[in-house]
This record gives sequence, structure tokens and C-alpha cells, in this order.
Amino acid sequence: MSGEIDEGCSGEVGESCGIVGVVAEEAARLAFFGLFALQHRGQESAGIATLDAGSMHLHKDVGLVSQVFRGENLTTLVGKIAIGHTRYSTTGKPSARNAQPFVIDTQFGPLALGHNGNIANAPALRKELLARGLGLMTGSDSELLAMMLAGTPGKNWTERIARAMRSWVGAYSLVLLTREGLFAVRDPWGYRPLAWGRIDSGGWAVASETSALRVMGCSGFEEIPPGTILHFDERGLVERARADIEVPQAACSFEYVYFSRPDSVWNGRNIHAVRRRLGELLAEEAPAVADLVIPVPDSSIAAAIGYAQKSGIPFGEGLVKNRYIGRTFIEPTKALRRQGVALKFSPLKETLEGARIVLVDDSIVRGTTTAPIVALCRNAGAKEIHLRIASPRILHPCYMGVDMGAEQDLVAVGREPAEIAAMVGADSLAYLSLEGLSRAIGVEGLCRACFDGNYHIPVDEGFTKECFEGFGRGTI
Ligand code: SF4
Repeated sequence: MSGEIDEGCSGEVGESCGIVGVVAEEAARLAFFGLFALQHRGQESAGIATLDAGSMHLHKDVGLVSQVFRGENLTTLVGKIAIGHTRYSTTGKPSARNAQPFVIDTQFGPLALGHNGNIANAPALRKELLARGLGLMTGSDSELLAMMLAGTPGKNWTERIARAMRSWVGAYSLVLLTREGLFAVRDPWGYRPLAWGRIDSGGWAVASETSALRVMGCSGFEEIPPGTILHFDERGLVERARADIEVPQAACSFEYVYFSRPDSVWNGRNIHAVRRRLGELLAEEAPAVADLVIPVPDSSIAAAIGYAQKSGIPFGEGLVKNRYIGRTFIEPTKALRRQGVALKFSPLKETLEGARIVLVDDSIVRGTTTAPIVALCRNAGAKEIHLRIASPRILHPCYMGVDMGAEQDLVAVGREPAEIAAMVGADSLAYLSLEGLSRAIGVEGLCRACFDGNYHIPVDEGFTKECFEGFGRGTI
């Protein structure tokens, strides 16, 4: 499972899911801290599973991490090994039945699974499982992974995971909990991040982002290489295995543009530093004559700082974000989304009145929130608004775990920047180039498919977020 995008990613895109794994005293409590740090990756549901004396304990529900977990349910999650998940749906509707971790009984004992990503060949895998007479409870591709693992032969879980990985095409960072311990798995393409570290006070932790490892008490970390399976038990890291699959690397460039926290490190690159560089290159490629550079907070702040420093135009705060508004609160309809923008951002009249501004946003996906943001600035007195986007035009859907909607939802498809500028009420609009994106990130083997249509894997265009929802639909 992963995420929807919809504002100039001031909220247009659904975030990827967040996953954690812990081997330590008070494992559930540490997993809770880790999930809290990963809340930005998914706000629909949260869950933690623990293992104690061979038995699994689970609590999960819809809502934010702080709503799902309270002191009383954390104390029922006993055991020294835990996995946790915070979800934004990319396959399957947001509902309690799709919340993770998934826990199933298998011939090899209980299995709990938390998944970040999206399995692109899920329709074919689903058909295959149903044809074998197996039933599925949810519309989620993550359940498929758990069911496939349950039916894969092997002398231990490492062997079964490595074997099952040969059938999975797509993005998956996984945490698995079994009687053998905790497993952390990354797909061979390396689409989504995953790292692990030693907890200073004792124990080991795994998380989608390094910032969450710090919150769980790790002062150092190691990124888990693509195609790797790590096995931890109460003694620590007991096995490192690799799936024997050779494919080109495809790290999601959108993690750098929008998803990941600025204080995280991925592929050795700090996200905040990359975003500043995106802004610097944007200033070089798309200069503007203006009095102030204003970010759409929060994800565009670093790019706006970079733009301001490179252009010499002062940085200013022109929009104040209400940090306590959840995405789910503003989503369902276009009209509500518009109103949500007003709830989410307040213009600073004192800054904007009479000013020519460069308004920096990280991306535009559907464009539904860009026009209301521009209108907020205009109504607060901005004289000229030059919209600058710190990523290229999004022209293709993502099948690897980011919900950008279908091609017809993407505002840049079939429209030139000048046309979009007119639609959203800006005086001008320019995007960063593809080359600028790659230069700023500086990592070999990037996925840029939503920008250039070059998918590293075969994709099924009929595969949408809710295509398996409702019993009977997955059998067609
Ligand atoms: S298509 Fe875009 S959002 Fe999806 S994995 Fe590739 S870069 Fe990331």
C-alpha cells in the first residue's frame, strides 16, 4: 500500500505508507514512536502487531496514530518484537478491513505483514490465487503478499520470502513478523526507502525513513539495499540474504520531491539538501522578476530557500499553514477540497500586499488546490504571481505506490504551462526540467516514470486504486 497525491503537493498526493519494526523491551511503544514520526506517509489507518511467546497480538484501526493508540491498547501489545504500519491506500479503499499489519495463520505459524509500495502485477497474482481455490478478504495487494508467502514452500521464512519475491513485480518495502523473528525486505528495484539501526538503549529498529529511526533511539543507521532480506531475532541481526533477481534500480524521485521528511536520508542524500538544490536549479532554469520568494508550506520551503538564495530575491513567508489539519478531513469532493485549502492555509496580507511574488510549490498533480492557493495570495494583495514548480510536469500515473489518479486527472496532460497558468490564475508558470530533477537528486537509477513515462517494469493501465473493492470484482 502506498499513497494519493493531489495538491501541488501541498496535499494533492496521497503519501506512501510508513512501516516500522522493532526488537527491544517495550517494542510496541517504540513502534508507536516510529509510526508517529512516519505519520506524514499515511493518515488513514495505523496498526501494530507484536509477538510474545509464539503468540501474535494485534491492534489496528482507521485514524491517525495518536487516535488509534492509547495507553490501554499499547499495554496489551506485549512482546519484545513488533511491526507497525501507517497507511495511505493506493490499492483498496480506506477502511478498517484494509488496515495493516495483516495477520494470518499459516502452516508455518502466524505471519504479520506491513507493506509500503504497490504490486504492479497484483491483478495477475490475484487471479492465480483465486484459481487455486484460495479466498481473499480485502481489496489490498498487501494481503496478496501475505497469502502468497503462506503458500510458498521453503525450509525457513528467509527462503520462502526470497522465493515469493521472484513472482512480485513492483514496489515493496516490507516488515514481517513470524515465530522466527522480524524480517525487513526491500524490492529489487529499490522503489521505496527502508533502513535499520541499533537502538542506543538496547535493541534494533527498522523504518521507512531514517528520521523515524532517530525517534526510536538509534544514533546511527544503515540503508537496506534493494533486493535484500534482513532477519532479526532477540539476539539482533542474525541473517542477511539477497533475492537472486537482477533488475535496474528505480528509486522513486518523488520521495525526494515531496514524500519523505526533510530530516531523512535516502541513498546517502539528505532530503532537505536535495530540495534546496531543486530550488536552486529551478531559479537558474526559470528566473522571474519579483520582490519575494514565497513557499507553499511545508514541503516547498526548502526549494523556496534554494530559489531565493540562487536568485538573490528575498525569501518571505506569505502563507501560514494550519499544522493540525489532517488530509482525510479535506479530501472527498472538489468543492470540499477548495474549502480545505482555506482551512489549511492563511495568507499573510502584510507580506503579500502590493508584492510581486515567486510562489514555489514542489509539484502540481491534479491542480485542484493550486488555483485556490493562487487566489488566496491574489486576494491578499499580491500584484504578480509567478508560479515555479520544483519538479517537472507530471504526465503519467504511478503504478508503484503513489496515488496520482489516472492520466485524465493530471492537469499537465495536454496542456502547456501558459494554459495551466491561466487556469490557476497565475501570471506565469514554469517547471524544473527532467535533467534538473536528476541533477538535484544526484542518485543513479531513479524512477521518473510519472514525469517521463519510462516505467522500469511492465504496468497494467487498468489497475486502479479500488479495482478490487467489492466482492466479485477481483475475479473478472
Ligand atoms: S512513477 Fe513517480 S511517484 Fe511513482 S515511483 Fe516513479 S517517481 Fe515515484
